[in-house]
Amino acid sequence: MTLVFPAQDPVTLAVAGTANRFPLHRIYCVGRNYNEHVVEMGGVAGREPPFFFSKPNDAAVGNGVFPYPPMSKDVHHEVELVVALGPGLSIFGYAVGLDFTRRDLQAEAKKLGRAWDTSKAFDFSAPMSPITPRSDVMKKGAITLDVNGTRRQTGDIAAMIWGVDEIIAELGRYFILKPGDVIFTGTPAGVSAVQKGDRLHAAIEGVGTFDVTVT
Ligand code: MN
Repeated sequence: MTLVFPAQDPVTLAVAGTANRFPLHRIYCVGRNYNEHVVEMGGVAGREPPFFFSKPNDAAVGNGVFPYPPMSKDVHHEVELVVALGPGLSIFGYAVGLDFTRRDLQAEAKKLGRAWDTSKAFDFSAPMSPITPRSDVMKKGAITLDVNGTRRQTGDIAAMIWGVDEIIAELGRYFILKPGDVIFTGTPAGVSAVQKGDRLHAAIEGVGTFDVTVT
């Protein structure tokens, strides 16, 4: 087979403690999965069925650099536990992820009933730490994000409205899940805008830490 032009390189993520790489397939994301964040976004706390959106897999970057995107003046950080799926829908491991969001474009999309692609699925919008192999269903663990040394987001995995196993089951009703898929599981309260030069330090107990600089 001869390609008419070279294919894009496959996207892979580092796996903590090994030189092997995780072949990334799709990036799914869960919206509104911590009540305190639901409330800060103007919603009502409760347990509605989870809703999903996605990002292109080449939005995942692991080099610790987030280039501030064009077309927005209000880009927010959302620190999230990321579940990485292996063969047979097993849990391969977990990562610390940042679901960067053009909040101004998202607010406009919500108002006009439009899709979230430009607010959520832009280039470099899904920085991820190396994946820590761990096959259990995580049920607790502190999750935090500091910006320039100041704590901005604090929560615990135990406060997720929909648990890791429930998210995988519900998502699998809508999509054919495959090895290499990852799922961002929602963000706790405290989202706020980033600026060029900001240094972000994210941590999830039992998974690891992840440093990202906004350039
Ligand atoms: Mn999010």
